Amino acid sequence: MKVHYHTAASLAASAILYLLFKSWGMAAACFISGVFIDLDHILDYLREQGWPFKVRRFFEICHNGQFDRIMLIWHGWEWLALWSLAAWVTDWNPLITGALIGIALHMIMDTLHNCNSPISYSLLWRWQKGFVFDEVFPKIAEQKYAHRQSFRQRTQ
Ligand SMILES: [Zn+2]
Repeated sequence: MKVHYHTAASLAASAILYLLFKSWGMAAACFISGVFIDLDHILDYLREQGWPFKVRRFFEICHNGQFDRIMLIWHGWEWLALWSLAAWVTDWNPLITGALIGIALHMIMDTLHNCNSPISYSLLWRWQKGFVFDEVFPKIAEQKYAHRQSFRQRTQ
């Protein structure tokens, strides 16, 4: 999902949290975690493409799902479970709770937009699949290959 959607949703969620709990810390943690979790895409890009980092190429690869393998180290329901536990153990610390809500919102949006299977966002499941992109995100892979095939047919 594109960054501006996550930015808008995180901003809205942060505003609602601020209105409900009057905590700038909670609102900021929600916004920051909801947007910047996607920085893990940079790690996958650099692992496959190497240095130097090219911004335009980075967005092109992410948008078209042109990864051979994808780790997405911060996109994982497992992290969400740990954040939930941390929030509960700290008696719902505003920073931890805000981050939890931001991450949860981001993960739900990615799941609804990028695939129809929530299992794709399990870190352990991706690990079991060897982080192979086409196995982890079969619907995106299907669209990717259908698009390539139609492009070939148009250019022949
Ligand atoms: Zn994401």
